[in-house]
Amino acid sequence: MCGHEKKDSFRSNRQRMLDWDLAGRDINDRRVLAAMAEVPREEFVTGSYRSQAYSDGPLPIGMGQTISQPYIVALMTQELHVDPECEVLEIGTGSGFQTAVLSKLAKKVYTIERFGELAASAQAVLRKLDISNVEFHVGDGSCGWPASKLPPSGCFDRIMVTAAVPRIPMPLVRQLVEAGFAVVPVGHGGSQRLVRCEKKAGELDEKTICDVRFVKLVGKHGFQQ
Ligand code: SAH
Repeated sequence: MCGHEKKDSFRSNRQRMLDWDLAGRDINDRRVLAAMAEVPREEFVTGSYRSQAYSDGPLPIGMGQTISQPYIVALMTQELHVDPECEVLEIGTGSGFQTAVLSKLAKKVYTIERFGELAASAQAVLRKLDISNVEFHVGDGSCGWPASKLPPSGCFDRIMVTAAVPRIPMPLVRQLVEAGFAVVPVGHGGSQRLVRCEKKAGELDEKTICDVRFVKLVGKHGFQQ
């Protein structure tokens, strides 16, 4: 296939993903669907995985990590209720695909990744896509965004965690604004729940959305390994 034929096939596969895997299920927030339409997932995977970019499953991205399934990215984004004024903290940059989707909906995204290699390649892809409202940090996201670099408000309107935690890390609870939302996979191994939380009077009010399977968040307030 030559370059533009490939482009056309990515475009038609992306449309099929939007119609069947997202809108055809329960993704009905038009802003989320528009953001998913705007971000080319093939840019976030390499080599032979590019041809599978629009199959509805996770794919390897190196360092033993995966880019999440498109439906789950859309569902988590929909549950987060991001509006254009929001400052969003994302833990687990990975490929940067979810970061890019969030960047289309938010004022600014702050994203933390444990592996410098993944953060660097995500940063390069976002630069190529002309996305400029994202700040990257390499470190342990279970400890939250570094205090010395916090936005002026001192906390975030929304928090998304894209790796599973044994319980919601306290530093993240502290960095979530009152009445803000967080979407987090919670649980061990084969038994994880995707949880949507609202901060009310300093505590998290949790609601389970569905069962999920994510890689582990490895860190001080996550899993040991
Ligand atoms: N949203 C990403 C999913 C990446 S998988 C995507 O769609 O590509 C989860 C990511 O969390 C992995 O890249 C993993 O390295 C990262 N991670 C695991 N523990 C972490 C921690 N303590 N701090 C920051 N990132 C972490």
